[in-house]
Amino acid sequence: MSLPERAAIIDAAAIAHNVATIGEFVRPAKVLAAVKADGYGHGLITAARAALAGGADWLGTAHIEEALQLRAAGIDAPILAWLHTTGASFRAAIEQHIDLGISGWELDRVVAAAQELHEPARVHLKIDTGLGRNGATVADWPALVARAAEHRNRGLISVEGIFTHLAVADEPDRRETDQQLSVFREALVTAEAGGLVPDLRHAANTPAALSRPDAHFDMVRVGVGIYGQSPFADRTAASLGLSPAMELRTTVANVKRVPAGQGISYGLTHRVEAPTHLGLIPIGYADGVPRIAAGAPVLIRDRRYHSAGRVAMDQFVVDLGEQTDVQVGDEVTLFGGKSGIEAADWGAAAQTINYEIITRIGARVPRVVINQEPGA
Ligand SMILES: *Cc1c(COP(=O)(O)O)cnc(C)c1O
Repeated sequence: MSLPERAAIIDAAAIAHNVATIGEFVRPAKVLAAVKADGYGHGLITAARAALAGGADWLGTAHIEEALQLRAAGIDAPILAWLHTTGASFRAAIEQHIDLGISGWELDRVVAAAQELHEPARVHLKIDTGLGRNGATVADWPALVARAAEHRNRGLISVEGIFTHLAVADEPDRRETDQQLSVFREALVTAEAGGLVPDLRHAANTPAALSRPDAHFDMVRVGVGIYGQSPFADRTAASLGLSPAMELRTTVANVKRVPAGQGISYGLTHRVEAPTHLGLIPIGYADGVPRIAAGAPVLIRDRRYHSAGRVAMDQFVVDLGEQTDVQVGDEVTLFGGKSGIEAADWGAAAQTINYEIITRIGARVPRVVINQEPGA
């Protein structure tokens, strides 16, 4: 396979494998594969098709626009979209049978759209059990339930689900998750008392899917795990049985010998102590590689080297040592594939997390999809 000069190699079979692995773990709960943010950088449609091939029951997006792109690609699986503004296309969502997360104000807009279309909207009511983002507050929940039940009785909506989102599930020892789940269970009781008993109660993201069976309810909403990334700071993806779905690759653009004291990159934040060889890696922050990621690993000829100095817009430098067999044109893997380097290692070097590393790989890096199911 001849690759572009820079590539994010997307392993569709790895996504399918990860969905199936998580699915086995959470059964009989259903699996919603989160494909928002361009499939966490892997490509919206690629990720969606691969997740469905791996047995995902649902797809999830933040925005209605993302869900509409899935429908436009011919994907007819159930989709839930949960983050809306007053400019959102609620009508199009209803027409395209996209389920809508509802936290409060959206309900009136969605009902108005349903009335115009003479078609009930499918909604999942969201309760804020502690994250402090979207979702009705505990105080507002009974009123939201009452309004929803009324609209349901008038045939304007069907309440398919009730859900919440967890704040600290990536730190399984923290007690706030217990508190959130207990608030969630109370909210379900309130809903039931108000006549709402939806089929899909859902709370778990990837870390809760993998560490909290009591959070599985009827469905888990998993994102980062299906891309082969660990949601836990102290666990590798491999230890969770997950395979990385993105390999970020390029080739060495230059190799040169430099004397002791040579400074590296803008700001000259790094100087070599002894004569050495510098390798130039032609991918930079415009491609999504964080500017501050000094000391991050790369793999060249099965050996690890580390970024030195600041990452620039288009390139960064690795110290290859005084003796080196690395040559111009050699393949470089930043993370993923069989490199053993995880996006989380780049996250650690950049004071961020694997989620941000994979979702920010830029448009200048072509996605090259491998191991796609025929016809997918
Ligand atoms: C993004 C998102 C998820 C998936 O989270 P991961 O940690 O990537 O598994 C689940 N639910 C909601 C509401 C989300 O926004």
